[in-house]
Amino acid sequence: MFEGLSSSLQKALGKLRSKGKLTEEDVQAAMREVRLALLAADVNVKVVKQFVDRVRERAVGQDVQKSLTPGQQVVKIVHEELTELMGGSAARLNMAPKPPTVVMLVGLQGAGKTTTAAKLALSFRKHDHRPLLVAADVYRPAAITQLQVLGKQIDIPVFEMGTSVDPVRIAQQGIAEATRLGADVVIVDTAGRLHIDEQLMDELSRMQQAVTPNEVLLVVDAMTGQDAVHVAETFHEQLSITGVILTKLDGDTRGGAALTVRAVTGCPIKFTGMGEKIEPLEVFHPDRLASRILGMGDVLGLIEKAQETVDMEQAQEMQKKLLSAQFTLDDFRAMFQQVRNLGPLDQIMKMIPGANKLKGLENVNLDDKRFQRIDAIISSMTKEERQDPSVMNASRRRRVANGSGVTVREVNQVLNQFEQTRQMMKRFGGGFGKKLGLRGAQ
Ligand code: GDP
Ligand code: MG
Repeated sequence: MFEGLSSSLQKALGKLRSKGKLTEEDVQAAMREVRLALLAADVNVKVVKQFVDRVRERAVGQDVQKSLTPGQQVVKIVHEELTELMGGSAARLNMAPKPPTVVMLVGLQGAGKTTTAAKLALSFRKHDHRPLLVAADVYRPAAITQLQVLGKQIDIPVFEMGTSVDPVRIAQQGIAEATRLGADVVIVDTAGRLHIDEQLMDELSRMQQAVTPNEVLLVVDAMTGQDAVHVAETFHEQLSITGVILTKLDGDTRGGAALTVRAVTGCPIKFTGMGEKIEPLEVFHPDRLASRILGMGDVLGLIEKAQETVDMEQAQEMQKKLLSAQFTLDDFRAMFQQVRNLGPLDQIMKMIPGANKLKGLENVNLDDKRFQRIDAIISSMTKEERQDPSVMNASRRRRVANGSGVTVREVNQVLNQFEQTRQMMKRFGGGFGKKLGLRGAQ
């Protein structure tokens, strides 16, 4: 996602970065390109104009001209304004002072409400809440079954009353059921239509009045671009939504909706959905997305992801080793294990600033088979060899290849990758270590 926008913005700003002094013409030329990049990404025309005007005004200002790195300053301004455009800091969810917290999910048919309801339930459970899903879509065939199947899959209870009851009553009864079950969050999955219509809005607004939800979250499909923004505007006018969840950001969206929704509706994007698989939703962090678009990497996102999936003590131990010289093949193997838990390596690499420029990493494919081979190769080495791979001469490499049932070439590959990783970690180690507060990181 955002690849097109990202590369054209970086190109436009890259020209400024290398200049020692900026003329007003330099800034004007860059702003023209920024404008085109945003329009091509399907950002709302008015929003683009305001955005570019603000950046231009700041970029030709005194402070920038006087600074030692005016080009970098402009990049910083674009980063700040992009962040601001998307809402500044991450928005939080309103929780009821007295449980249960009620969250209504609304949106057009096919936007991803039911899928998102399940993902949201998982997010709440991750933070030690006890969610209940309520099936209040009585129109779409099999909508109730769909929610029940998802609920079963993630082991979260689903309340339903069939299809012949008023959805408003289902929502009310769902809240009563939550109290009975001791659930502290109620997520109501509502019906959608192909287009916004009065009947849909009327039902939703009756439900809103009856259950006074703490959050009314509009689920919109990011792939629909400016249509998504229009939908958000209309829903906001009629229901006063409290936030937006942008789904299908995994698809090849140009990014326009993500950059425009907040500016047009004033409503914050609270979460993003990134796939059909039921996983917790990602909290929407405007600053991180801005960094990603501008190619500054998403180090914080990576660290957050690592903290969720990796044993923290083990990870800190590992990082200490990475920062020191004692990174061994045993650590390399353990690292593979941890990285595997994080997800596809190519996605992780995208989050590391500059890592996309490293050669050789595109072939690092961590499927199970490959991991087993690496594991076998390292296991066939002696303790001494694992501690200090520099002793691995030709005959030792042959022995290990025979012992693990692979070719010498594969042994060489693993040793090369180990060395590359060690070098790379040395380079990134400082920054990562500092972020994690590790001693010894400079
Ligand atoms: P609803 O009609 O709003 O309840 O939408 P559904 O939850 O039934 O989703 C419609 C389709 O979109 C389903 O095929 C989902 O699997 C798919 N979907 C939902 N969220 C995402 C997402 O974030 N990414 C992708 N790629 N597909 C999604
Ligand atoms: Mg649905």
